[in-house]
Amino acid sequence: MSDLDLRPDFRQCGGRDDVSGSPVRELLHPREASLGSTAVRRLLPSLGRRMVGAWCFVDHFGPDDIADEPGMQVPPHPHMGLQTVSWLHEGEVLHRDSVGSVQPLRPRQLGLMTSGRGIAHAEQSTVPHPRLLHGAQLWVALPGAHRNTAPAFEHHADLPVVMAPGLAATVILGGLDGAVSPGKTFTPLVGADLALNEGAAVRLPVERDFEYAVLTMSGDTEVDGVRLAPGSMLYLGAGRSELPLRAHSDAGLLLLGGEPFEEKIIMWWNLIGRTQAEITEGREAWMSGDRFGTVRGYDGAPMPAPALPATALKPRGRTR
Ligand code: MN
Repeated sequence: MSDLDLRPDFRQCGGRDDVSGSPVRELLHPREASLGSTAVRRLLPSLGRRMVGAWCFVDHFGPDDIADEPGMQVPPHPHMGLQTVSWLHEGEVLHRDSVGSVQPLRPRQLGLMTSGRGIAHAEQSTVPHPRLLHGAQLWVALPGAHRNTAPAFEHHADLPVVMAPGLAATVILGGLDGAVSPGKTFTPLVGADLALNEGAAVRLPVERDFEYAVLTMSGDTEVDGVRLAPGSMLYLGAGRSELPLRAHSDAGLLLLGGEPFEEKIIMWWNLIGRTQAEITEGREAWMSGDRFGTVRGYDGAPMPAPALPATALKPRGRTR
């Protein structure tokens, strides 16, 4: 998916300033946007919280009834310096990209796109498509040593699942309780889908030196004692070895965590760089048809890049 801001600003992310080394419970407030016929809640970056480990972008969309709607319609757009993770609970989306991938994505299958130095992709609800669309789009920042790696796409339909009473945890990326996702990672991190049954009370084993956040996608849950409604995300900091979870109804959560991302990066629109000049070059390359390649088979025009901000990035002050 794409950042839909019409006038995005440069945003500096990374570094240790905002990382809590000890457990905290910080509720993140979403920003609402719309994506065709689907409402999107942007949880990351949000006011006061820009990254959780290398996770740098979290959009939650739906569940929406799209029976009589086109559903997701995201024209070709570029990415650089990051990986995208597509994760559905309901619906079906067709991914096409400029390395030639044409892949339908179904619920609880991993679509992992590594942009490296540059890739372009489009995402559309399939025709016909299921009545409901519900999912999340996540980005992972690539570390400096790997940010210019070759673009690639992976599809994993069979991910490891950790079972415990009342819990089925699908490991999307990284490892959880000894189970490891086949998806390629470049920094120590984890992404896991936690399906909880009504009445479940579990203590999830986690890494003390990872910071974590949990997004509730559906159901009525308690994460470390904090009641979370669907569409809410709780930042948890680091310093835990287990995470208490309760479900007051059947529920679906996303656990995101990782080692704090030490490098400072600049995010703008769908691009990540280390300097504003790199972002400007990336934008120009997209607008002139260079570097990012062509998405074949998409019926429509590619997405134009928004204008660059008129003012340069301001030095970053405290955000909390
Ligand atoms: Mn995208």
